[in-house]
Amino acid sequence: MNLELSPEDLAFRDELREFFAGAVRPEYRTAIRAGLRPTPQQLTEWQATLAERGWGAPTWPKEYGGTGWTPTQLYIFETEAARADAPIQFHQGLELIGPIIFTFGTDDQKERYLPRIISGEDWWCQGYSEPGAGSDLAALSTRAVRDGDHYVINGQKMWTSYAHVASHMFCLVRTSKEERRQQGISLILVDMNTPGIKIRPVETLDEKHHTNEVFLDDVRVPVSNLLGEEGKGWGYGKVLLDRERAVGASTALRLRSQVDAIYSAARRIPFGGATLADTPAVATQLAQLEIEALTIETMVMRLMADAAAGVDSGPRASMLKLRWSETLQKVTELWTEVLGYDAAVFEDLSGEGVPEDMPLALQGALYARVTSIYGGSSEIQRNIIARRSLGL
Ligand SMILES: Cc1cc2nc3c(=O)[nH]c(=O)nc-3n(C[C@H](O)[C@H](O)[C@H](O)COP(=O)(O)OP(=O)(O)OC[C@H]3O[C@@H](n4cnc5c(N)ncnc54)[C@H](O)[C@@H]3O)c2cc1C
Repeated sequence: MNLELSPEDLAFRDELREFFAGAVRPEYRTAIRAGLRPTPQQLTEWQATLAERGWGAPTWPKEYGGTGWTPTQLYIFETEAARADAPIQFHQGLELIGPIIFTFGTDDQKERYLPRIISGEDWWCQGYSEPGAGSDLAALSTRAVRDGDHYVINGQKMWTSYAHVASHMFCLVRTSKEERRQQGISLILVDMNTPGIKIRPVETLDEKHHTNEVFLDDVRVPVSNLLGEEGKGWGYGKVLLDRERAVGASTALRLRSQVDAIYSAARRIPFGGATLADTPAVATQLAQLEIEALTIETMVMRLMADAAAGVDSGPRASMLKLRWSETLQKVTELWTEVLGYDAAVFEDLSGEGVPEDMPLALQGALYARVTSIYGGSSEIQRNIIARRSLGL
């Protein structure tokens, strides 16, 4: 990957910079700096704003409505988005199921689903985990039984993020019992308005409703909603999980501006005749986190360079997931320490907006705990690295 920007790349960067300067609203910035995810309504609005500009699907090929950008252009887009504290596009439709639909889906599925993912009209949730199947996903037991032109689905999904706002769910189900547990699993696209679906909220530590339990009781789904081949869902599912680990690149690239924001705040807080930023304890932590953020940016570049060269990136997506999630936790913890009692502001009660140098820090720190669990826990990432990189 050539990091010297060509005159065209520089012009593209300036175009993006101008766009983001006008499009990123202050409330997005507060949430991003705190390490929080903006609300579903804000994410839908942001998706529509990008789609209007023709940038709704930055990683997709042109023929499916994407930008067709090169890895270098994509890197410029992501770094400029991070620089402007733009929201991270919600990934479950765009980065997880969308690419599987355009790779393995039927023409009808592509026509029906892809444009509405780009416009933000449809919201997809991921129905993988179950009460007895998380890290050990192959243990999943939700069953889909063929009945004429339909599958009838029964079972329970767990931790289904945003199922309560989603219009569709991509769901891993067992369509036959085989000797190898990974066989006989299929990927089915489910309309969330189908009778028999019940959603129960699960509140996370940050006192927000992000995630849910989803109960499927005789849910009838047309056979045409099967994605790819019956019984081959495990293969598609694994591709999705690898993408999910790499999707963190956008979050990873925001770490540096979060560290910068903490530094600016610490410089304004008086302490012992100087400022908090001058104390060795805070200065050392900030320097260390900035180094980590820069290292992680280099990891993102390497992943993108692999993509540009068309080579397998091995366990790099797992390495990146491990590092960004654990660093985000440290960054949000430092925010909380620096702000002290002010970190406990949980919502904008004044109606005037939370000041940019005082984001919802404690809420961000609590929310960040999930990042080392979802998309495969840190222990699972370490296992993957040990196996794929060290051959253990
Ligand atoms: C907020 C949140 C949102 C989520 N959103 C979604 C979603 O939208 N869709 C979805 O399908 N899932 C989602 N998940 C589920 C997530 O993917 C699982 O929680 C995760 O895979 C861990 O599975 P588990 O919770 O069953 O824990 P378990 O697998 O039971 O693990 C428990 C502990 O044991 C450790 N462990 C397990 N196996 C091993 C091993 N082989 N070696 C070493 N340690 C091990 C784990 O690291 C963990 O610490 C979400 C989870 C959370 C918390």
